[in-house]
Amino acid sequence: IKRYFPLFDRHPSLVYLDTGATCPKPQEVIAAEREYEEAFSTNVGRGLYPLAEATTERFEAVRSQVARFIGAESEREIIFTSGTTASLNLAAALLAPTLRSDDHIITTELEHHSNALPWIELARAKNSTLHSAPFTQDGTIDVEALLSLINTETKVITLSALSNVFGTRNPITDIIKRIRSRNPETIVVIDAAQMAGHFPIDVTEWDADLVAFSGHKMYGPTGIGILFGKHTLLETFKPVVFGGGMVVDACADPAEYKESPFCFEAGTPNISGVIGLGAAITFLERIGFDTVRTHEKNLLAMTLVRMREHFADRIHILGTDDIEKRGGIISFVLDGIHPHDLAQVLGEHDISIRAGEHCAAPLHRKLGFSATARVSFGIYNTEEDVEKLISGIKNARALFDTKTPLHPSI
Ligand code: PMP
Repeated sequence: IKRYFPLFDRHPSLVYLDTGATCPKPQEVIAAEREYEEAFSTNVGRGLYPLAEATTERFEAVRSQVARFIGAESEREIIFTSGTTASLNLAAALLAPTLRSDDHIITTELEHHSNALPWIELARAKNSTLHSAPFTQDGTIDVEALLSLINTETKVITLSALSNVFGTRNPITDIIKRIRSRNPETIVVIDAAQMAGHFPIDVTEWDADLVAFSGHKMYGPTGIGILFGKHTLLETFKPVVFGGGMVVDACADPAEYKESPFCFEAGTPNISGVIGLGAAITFLERIGFDTVRTHEKNLLAMTLVRMREHFADRIHILGTDDIEKRGGIISFVLDGIHPHDLAQVLGEHDISIRAGEHCAAPLHRKLGFSATARVSFGIYNTEEDVEKLISGIKNARALFDTKTPLHPSI
């Protein structure tokens, strides 16, 4: 599978273990984007000439493809955005007019900043109450604690399907069912950024109201994302961004806007990004999520075993060792080596991992870590990558363990 990804031809010795940040793109995604730029390069939804009509047709076909990919009932439930961050900010902006000062919003302590800050700012602007549900020792949302925060004032609950730090999956279908039995009026928003591309998503089975994810974390282009919204809910929202392509009658007073999702997509969209996203979905479906999952699970199991084997007394791995509950992400801290130093030393050997707070400062603060190291897998990783990672960590440990001063004169 690695041979589908031109990045690894350009960098043959690269051990890329930062898929949680973004994925290299397969050749067919790059080719699809290029094909649009070279052979179409026209706008969508406006032109009446054949080339523009062909572009609109291809663009709208991807909307239908995305709807099928996530089990949505209709393509009218798919809003194109620039990424998960934009989708979650849009969700907060769409919900803003419906929020009153006595309403409550619930989020969790394990959220990425993109699913925390928009709600913190919304609560501040509306003078609403914001609760943050804790996480458990194994790195999943503490569902009982979350449920205990729900009352008749709870308007919005937002949580992630798969933590970008713990790597743990939250049982979304079950959580949403329990939320609805407490308060059926609550709007449930799901951050699926780390889920898309690794597990199948079924928004209908989840029964989620709004779901956000990004193209670039599922082998698609950067700058393209999705906000799914239940059709019945989207119809109740008013547009929040205004301009071309979303209006029926701009001279009317008040102006008359198109129906959803078009009224939420003002301006020229990222057309090549949408076309590339379609190619990424085709790529993923051809490989199949069973293969994706089996592969990532094997690498995950192997890495956890090797880490425990070689660094047993020195390593702190965040979250559970139960791989059934995990996606392909492992965050860890090694005694005696700062995660930044580890990432830098590994980087010098062409092994790319992430170090820092991973845009989840409250989570790190709660655990008492200023930073963690994070390894995250994609479909292109191999067992050899894991072996190189482990020997790279051993080398780094030897470097930092040495009692010899860094410079003989010190
Ligand atoms: N949520 C989670 C869980 C993430 O991991 C990320 C990306 N690291 C985001 C949101 C934001 O995604 P994007 O940068 O594509 O907007």
